[in-house]
Amino acid sequence: MNHSLAISGGAPVRSAARHWPAWPQQAPGAREAVADVLSSGRWAISGPYVDRSSWEHRFADAFAEYQDARFCIPTANGTSALITSLEACGVGAGDEVIIPGITWVANASTVLSINAVPVFVDIDPYTLCLDPAAVEAAVTPATRAIVVVHLYSGLADLDALTEIAQRHGIPLIEDCAQAHGARYHDRRVGGFGVAGTFSLQHSKVLTSGEGGVVITDDAGLARQVEHMRADGRTYRRAELRRGQMELVETADVMGSNFCLSEFQSAIALHQLAQLDMQNKRRRENAAMLDERLSALGLRPQRTSEGTTDRTYYCYAVAADHDQLRRAGMAAVAEALSAELNFSVYGVYTPLYRNRLYRPATRRRFRLGADHERRIDTGGISLPACEQAAATYLTLHHAVLLGDQRDIDDIADAFEKVLLHHDELPGRP
Ligand SMILES: *Cc1c(COP(=O)(O)O)cnc(C)c1O
Repeated sequence: MNHSLAISGGAPVRSAARHWPAWPQQAPGAREAVADVLSSGRWAISGPYVDRSSWEHRFADAFAEYQDARFCIPTANGTSALITSLEACGVGAGDEVIIPGITWVANASTVLSINAVPVFVDIDPYTLCLDPAAVEAAVTPATRAIVVVHLYSGLADLDALTEIAQRHGIPLIEDCAQAHGARYHDRRVGGFGVAGTFSLQHSKVLTSGEGGVVITDDAGLARQVEHMRADGRTYRRAELRRGQMELVETADVMGSNFCLSEFQSAIALHQLAQLDMQNKRRRENAAMLDERLSALGLRPQRTSEGTTDRTYYCYAVAADHDQLRRAGMAAVAEALSAELNFSVYGVYTPLYRNRLYRPATRRRFRLGADHERRIDTGGISLPACEQAAATYLTLHHAVLLGDQRDIDDIADAFEKVLLHHDELPGRP
């Protein structure tokens, strides 16, 4: 029998010799900035002052300006940005926090980590972000926050979600770890709720390796986050002399150490200058890919109506042809990966059955039978989350940073797998 697909021994669409665009991509000036930190005598904001503004201040000012936010507090990662934002909103022991059923595990683990209870809520099947009607139905007297995630390249329906949050008096936190630079009604996302959080982890469209950011327009909330990320210390406002500590023990709120290092701040500041250009390139390539894949009967992820500028953390597409569904997305992803020499994945496994969500493996969550019952996910199944898991595929944004030939390769691979679907292994 003559096999065509690369998984069954055929020639791949794209030879391994052709490389995909690299990620991350070093921004001009980043190398010199890192060298500058090395020789500066100050590697962290908790180190003594050296006669000039910290890189962290410079990055925070630049990001606040980019976002048009009043306050910007860099953090160690997106996880700590979420933890400090939730706590600054007053969320704590036993409170319910609404989160989407499909997202990265941090959205559940951060809620658990402050002794609160994640409430998994279904998504819109087209945008893959929180479904406002499902949010409305999930609100209870114990709900203390809603965390909305702009997933992959979709922006959530912020008009509906901000209305629900305001009507119930519940703080809305926007997790923008996958949406740096996206705009809704001409304004950057992250500014629609009481706080916006970002991750600067390696894979994200703005990265310093690890890192995070909280933005807010609320001075009180900003001050709380500042305390919580630096062990209860905040920046000294008065004149500084060389050798003095810039962080002082204000201690209004107890904290943890979630500070971003000077190396990371210096890198993030330079990478930020590339963000709009890279987002634009990804957007243009994604539009070409949308056209090619739609012509094959596939359904690219959509974004909500209020979206002005979409950004792509991943390109997601529903491959809900019967033949492909029968094989299962894992098999289809494997076949595409072999054609492209690039890893294609499904979407995140719904969090309530995700193997990364395992509170029982940590003694700290044994807070009594009632709490254990409330955080148990047994029996939860959300239809749109399950449907998305069964139909969508995702490609990391690096593949959108190239040219038309790259986009053609991706589309050709989909076309080839569709044509030769009979070579896909059956669902186990
Ligand atoms: C990456 C990510 C986070 C966590 O960020 P880290 O910097 O890895 O801690 C949180 N939420 C979403 C949606 C993410 O994609």
